Amino acid sequence: MKKEAILVSACLLGVCCRYDGASKPNADVIKLRERYVLIPICPEVDGGLPTPRTPSEQVGDRVLMSDGKDVTDNFRAGAEAALERAKTFSCNIALLKARSPSCGSGMIYDGSFSGRLTEGNGVTADLLKKNGITIYTEEELDKLI
Ligand code: SF4
Repeated sequence: MKKEAILVSACLLGVCCRYDGASKPNADVIKLRERYVLIPICPEVDGGLPTPRTPSEQVGDRVLMSDGKDVTDNFRAGAEAALERAKTFSCNIALLKARSPSCGSGMIYDGSFSGRLTEGNGVTADLLKKNGITIYTEEELDKLI
């Protein structure tokens, strides 16, 4: 039977694309390749930001780096690229990194750069949800499997 394709945050697959130049490989996520075709995305890189980069958080309806630089356009471009990839590969599900200002779903950092969380979605998670794609984080794998 043909495997279903799902979007996955590239950092969970071991790609060193995080703001600090590291990755967050998750063995249970990588194992999902037995069941799904995993389509990696990194919206921040796809939106034109370098790695490593200054960390960003959503502040109101903008996305700012901790030094105040406005990177909203980069985040939106990365979200559009993720949606385009979802359409290309007919993905109805995305498994995205929790709490990220791009990929987070349900809870994200609150814009104070203090580690505090608030309810909300990352820019990419939000756009994907609005287009009917079901989002899970790596902390909700039990719901996906
Ligand atoms: Fe990972 Fe998403 Fe951040 Fe890229 S934008 S490093 S995929 S959490």
